Parts: sequence; C-alpha cells; structure tokens
Amino acid sequence: MALINCVRCGKVFSPERITNVCPDCVAQENENLKKVTEYLRDYPLANVMEVSDKTGVAAVQIFRFVKAGSLILSAPTEAFKCRMCGKEVKKGTLCQDCIDKVQDLKDSVKKKEKDRLRRDFEKKQIKKKK
Ligand SMILES: [Zn+2]
Ligand SMILES: [Zn+2]
Repeated sequence: MALINCVRCGKVFSPERITNVCPDCVAQENENLKKVTEYLRDYPLANVMEVSDKTGVAAVQIFRFVKAGSLILSAPTEAFKCRMCGKEVKKGTLCQDCIDKVQDLKDSVKKKEKDRLRRDFEKKQIKKKK
C-alpha cells in the first residue's frame, strides 16, 4: 500500500482506509472532540472561541468537528446570537461574517486562497468599470 504524508503532522504512514490523517492525529482529534463535547455539555451556549480557550482545542479544529457532523452546536434559545462572535443573527448559529471566516479556514489551502484573492480582484475590476 502506498505511503502518504499526514496532512496534520506530516508524518509518513500507510493508510488502512481512505484517509490523509495518520492514526496518531485521529486519536488526538478524538481526544479533543471528547474535551469539547464535555465542555459543551456543561456550558451548552458557550461560543467557539470560549470553548477553544477553555479546552485548548484550536477553533479551526472545532469547526472541523462541526463540519464533519461529529459536533453539534445547539442554537441559543432566547435570542439568536452568533456562536463565534456573539453578534445577533436572524437564524442559525453563526453570523455571515463568521460563516465566511469558517469558509476561509476551510479554504486555507494556498491555491484556493489565491483563487479567492483573484476573484476579489476581478470583482473590484468589474466594479471599477461600472
Ligand atoms: Zn499525523
Ligand atoms: Zn459572528
């Protein structure tokens, strides 16, 4: 079986199933997920930054859990507030700014980042023409 580099720690390993994360990082992630889940059980309305601060788990990773569906953030009951920055939102758990931020984190691969910058640049060019 082909050896690949873990996308998290760069370690070379032989994947047993289709994955690009080595078993060590998977174990670490499971541990982090447990910490986050336990913290959210005690403080169900804590925002991501707070959870990250208290558990030592990177916010990016918490978002990854949410995206993967392994972590569900319960929406606040009284008012809808962004789970990340506390700003009021009409619906959902994150405001548009933070949704964009999450998207940016996801697209942190340099190539994608470049594409985005190019799109922004092109958008500006189009505006200028109007
Ligand atoms: Zn790894
Ligand atoms: Zn926000």
